Amino acid sequence: MRDVIIAGGGPGGLLLAHFLGEHGIDYQVLERGKIAQAWRMMREGMILLSPAVPGTDWTSLTLKHPLWALPGVRKPFPRREDFLCYVDAFAREHHLRVLENTAVTRAAVIPGGFSVETSAGNKSGRFLVLATGSASEPAYPDIPGIASNPFVLHACDYVHCMAYSGKRVLIIGGGNSAAEIAIELAGTAGVTLSTRGPMRYFSETGDLEHIRGSSESNLKECIRFGIVGLREADPVVRVSGRRAWFRGGEEREFDWILCATGYRPAWIPIDGGTVRTREDGYPVISPTGQSTLPGLYFCGSLARFNKRCAFIHGFRNYVEKVFWDIADGL
Ligand SMILES: Cc1cc2nc3c(=O)[nH]c(=O)nc-3n(C[C@H](O)[C@H](O)[C@H](O)COP(=O)(O)OP(=O)(O)OC[C@H]3O[C@@H](n4cnc5c(N)ncnc54)[C@H](O)[C@@H]3O)c2cc1C
Repeated sequence: MRDVIIAGGGPGGLLLAHFLGEHGIDYQVLERGKIAQAWRMMREGMILLSPAVPGTDWTSLTLKHPLWALPGVRKPFPRREDFLCYVDAFAREHHLRVLENTAVTRAAVIPGGFSVETSAGNKSGRFLVLATGSASEPAYPDIPGIASNPFVLHACDYVHCMAYSGKRVLIIGGGNSAAEIAIELAGTAGVTLSTRGPMRYFSETGDLEHIRGSSESNLKECIRFGIVGLREADPVVRVSGRRAWFRGGEEREFDWILCATGYRPAWIPIDGGTVRTREDGYPVISPTGQSTLPGLYFCGSLARFNKRCAFIHGFRNYVEKVFWDIADGL
């Protein structure tokens, strides 16, 4: 039995592995794909929202090993490729013990710890940490006609604007992903953006949740020029095949309906114990990340100590708290 099993080899799981390794604690990271698989599946060329420059580094896993020190990194906002290279180098240079292509499918409480079922057989550990991320399960809006509609896709399915050349694309959502995809599609596809409420912008509210893509002004210009059609506070109320009905009463046909409506927290089933959840679906955790099931911890973006924990700069300090709590218990 290992001391610690970490499910998920993304930024959260890898940072915890780094702390455990530094202190000589026995652990194993189990990752369903390659290191930082979730980032490998994101859009090519995507620009991060979090800056990484000396003094304002919201992206590096630790300030001792900063992303901006890598040669050629885009500044102040790195590209997805920069971040991926950085995380991959971080894991390999620190000799983090990551078993790749090993998906954890469920876990069970056993005497003295946990047993986990994986695609590469069973493993066990005294402590189990779930660092499988908060973006593994796409959330679709509760609009009649969306489910099982072959013309509906989610932002996580979007690869590149060239796939939509000349098409009429309706984007449902007014958040960051909606803004980024609208900017990318602008000029290539006929884009309509439909939001539930008024658009909010970071430059106006200063709220990080109101960042609208890598260039807010670019989005605003596209809307002003009519390159992106904005149906502000005019949400879709019904869909049937390619047709969409808006609250304002209009009905229109599109080639694709893209839901940029975020993700919902989800994790593997745990037998033999109860993990209590909050109203928003995230697990109830202690100030050090322990769930209501003793010995089971959450780490990274799945551990919502506060809303900033959706981002690396929000959760990176908390990962250390998880580490110290586990180390104390060994
Ligand atoms: C489009 C998009 C853009 C973003 N941009 C930024 C940004 O600019 N700056 C920022 O700070 N944050 C950004 N985020 C948030 C970002 O995802 C988190 O900051 C960070 O990646 C969370 O790290 P994590 O380790 O908690 O989860 P993840 O990065 O999601 O890593 C979880 C890992 O667990 C693995 N996994 C999942 N299920 C299993 C399983 N059953 N068994 C084994 N392994 C499993 C996954 O393959 C993945 O590698 C963005 C998110 C999205 C979706």
